[in-house]
Amino acid sequence: MDMHRPDKQHWDKDGLEFERRLRPLSFDDFQGQSHLIENLRIFVEAANRRGDALDHVLFHGPPGLGKTTLAHIVAHELGVNLRTTSGPVLEKPGDLAGLLTALEPRDVLFIDEIHRLSPVVEEYLYSAMEDFKIDIMVETGPNARTVQIRLEPFTLIGATTRSGLLTAPMRARFGITQRLNYYDQPTLARIVRRSAAIMEVPIHEDAALEIARRSRGTPRIANALLRRVRDFAQIKNDGIIDLAIARYALEALGVDEYGLDEMDNKILTTLIDKFGGGPVGINTLATAVGENAETIEEVYEPYLIQEGFIKRTPRGRQATAKAYTHLGKTRPPEFPTLF
Ligand code: ADP
Repeated sequence: MDMHRPDKQHWDKDGLEFERRLRPLSFDDFQGQSHLIENLRIFVEAANRRGDALDHVLFHGPPGLGKTTLAHIVAHELGVNLRTTSGPVLEKPGDLAGLLTALEPRDVLFIDEIHRLSPVVEEYLYSAMEDFKIDIMVETGPNARTVQIRLEPFTLIGATTRSGLLTAPMRARFGITQRLNYYDQPTLARIVRRSAAIMEVPIHEDAALEIARRSRGTPRIANALLRRVRDFAQIKNDGIIDLAIARYALEALGVDEYGLDEMDNKILTTLIDKFGGGPVGINTLATAVGENAETIEEVYEPYLIQEGFIKRTPRGRQATAKAYTHLGKTRPPEFPTLF
């Protein structure tokens, strides 16, 4: 089911508009990630007092956990403009030069999927980040020459789901690096209640908790499920989301009891059916499920490990008893019986 997947490219235009409406605008509005928020508040406050641009910031973590949202909040709390772009969109240095020269002092430039910048664009970004200077080409043909342009001091905020793919020189240029973690159920339930209030949909506490439980630790999924459950409530329950209607809707939508998505379940099924539950090396597993190894390591596996479906052992990944139970499979005895 598309809307249950955390990646952005699966989102329709309505979905994006909906996300924008529910996006928290200040630190106070942002739920969870308390350690990260505490740090950011201090860095932003210090930059504000000095009147300096904030150091460059890198947010990394699985999709849908709030990296883009935080970029907006940081710009808002700095009282500056935010310009957004993404790695794959910036094809040549010229694309980046246009954005950089338009920045006003202390503005924030947000680059989503920063691990997907082309090497030339990335290199071009280095001097901009370090010295607030860029070279641009003026004139063409035999008169072509480069001139150096001074930029206003600005903050680059980069977001990536794949920090492992970032080059070392790129990583070294961020003064602040923060990881976003999956959200626990009570925090997600707060997010669901907040979103329901914005959408003006009455929701019972136990229904919010049920949606939270099945959201794969991810606010984007929680909000998407809420939106679908609301439809069921409107048609079948006078618009009120109580536990019964939430369960009914989630069941009808085919949402996994633990909120696992298709790829999560494919990983577990493959691990059990093809590799006898493991241990199996990440590359072998990746080939078998047709996904690349880094994506499994950085996007899928962290949640499966956190929730106790997979164990990481020195010899590879292993399915746990919980994974067998979840898929309704029988676990082979751990040691061969002797008698
Ligand atoms: P990412 O950039 O990490 O993929 P986003 O920042 O786009 O994720 O967040 C996806 C959606 O989840 C947004 O619409 C936002 O409203 C919601 N969201 C994310 N984090 C939070 C949070 N901590 N509190 C409330 N809503 C959140």
